[in-house]
Amino acid sequence: MNCPKCQSDMETVSYTGVPVDRCTSCHGLWFHPEQFKKLKRDDWLAAHIDAGESAPDTLNKMAEVHCPDCGARMKHLTDENQPHILYEQCPQGCGVFFDAGEFKDLAKETFWDKFKSRKILDK
Ligand SMILES: [Zn+2]
Ligand SMILES: [Zn+2]
Repeated sequence: MNCPKCQSDMETVSYTGVPVDRCTSCHGLWFHPEQFKKLKRDDWLAAHIDAGESAPDTLNKMAEVHCPDCGARMKHLTDENQPHILYEQCPQGCGVFFDAGEFKDLAKETFWDKFKSRKILDK
């Protein structure tokens, strides 16, 4: 699988047993719905620590991002309380993509509970 943003290889990393796809170059993270549902808050924080440097704006603000699984153009979503956080979701429900820096912000705030309760990955 290639990164939807920078086209580098994605590697599978494990956060306490939950496999997650991470870009070897920009460290963006791709979650499938079943991975995301298994992920617990501690795993999420571990992933955040591991995510590294923030992605440059050129990647963060990319207008057209395609799903690494099905190739559909992904929707840009944002959080009303943290509008600087942009993430991408496949319209077919394949998964969500976070840039490295976004992930750090998400982990810090109460976004986690909201994100989980919203069931954004349910079709
Ligand atoms: Zn990448
Ligand atoms: Zn897709």
